[in-house]
Amino acid sequence: MDLIALPAFQDNYFWMLHNGRQALVVDPGSAAPVLAALQQHDLALSSILVTHHHADHTGGVAELHGLTGATVYGPAHERIPEPFHRLNGGDRVQALGISFRVMDVPGHTAGHIAYFATEVDGAPLLFCGDTLFSGGCGRLFEGTPAQMLASLDALAALPGNTRVCAAHEYTLSNLRFARAVEPGNQALAEYQGQCERLREQGLPTLPSTIATERAINPFLRSREGAVVQSVRAHAPSATDEVSVFAALREWKNNFQ
Ligand SMILES: [Zn+2]
Ligand SMILES: [Zn+2]
Repeated sequence: MDLIALPAFQDNYFWMLHNGRQALVVDPGSAAPVLAALQQHDLALSSILVTHHHADHTGGVAELHGLTGATVYGPAHERIPEPFHRLNGGDRVQALGISFRVMDVPGHTAGHIAYFATEVDGAPLLFCGDTLFSGGCGRLFEGTPAQMLASLDALAALPGNTRVCAAHEYTLSNLRFARAVEPGNQALAEYQGQCERLREQGLPTLPSTIATERAINPFLRSREGAVVQSVRAHAPSATDEVSVFAALREWKNNFQ
């Protein structure tokens, strides 16, 4: 299997997985980059997996479905281009001979889902849309902090070697914020250096891994003493874990 991040718009990635003949694509916000990749690698598109309804994740779905007849899968409770198979947490999707488990991960949107496969070429694979980014998480447009915290907890509990295919290249700006939250985190400082070198070469910082995110991502570390202390210096009223998480997300929203 080949896993490719197709860059699009300002900072999106449309993830494509293919076996040399057939391909699946995740969250195609436009058709052109997908069609170019299909042609370049001589592939047929068999499946389109959608994580949530935002236009930068669904804008290419109708055209790709029309041109290729690929089967479209998406969250049961969100509006995406019809027709599509409506998925709920716990459902399974078969694509390219891989079985993906659907996870409900509300927070960024109310019906956001993620797709997890336990083994693709020796390691698990996660397509998590705009829920988990490297070093950060999605903005809370529709869900509550408690929902997002639970969603991130579920993702953090996946095996450490899970490859995290997030939908945006936000890593460097996320890591600047993460350093402000946890200036003493050595793994974070090293990871920031690695990611800066990748971006200087024009390469994606993704996929990351769940183990890396557990070590460096403040939104997966909101119960760590150092993170709690930093958050409380900004928001003294944050006491329980949900209010600490909410204050951390709020701090990031205002961080320059
Ligand atoms: Zn989104
Ligand atoms: Zn997005």
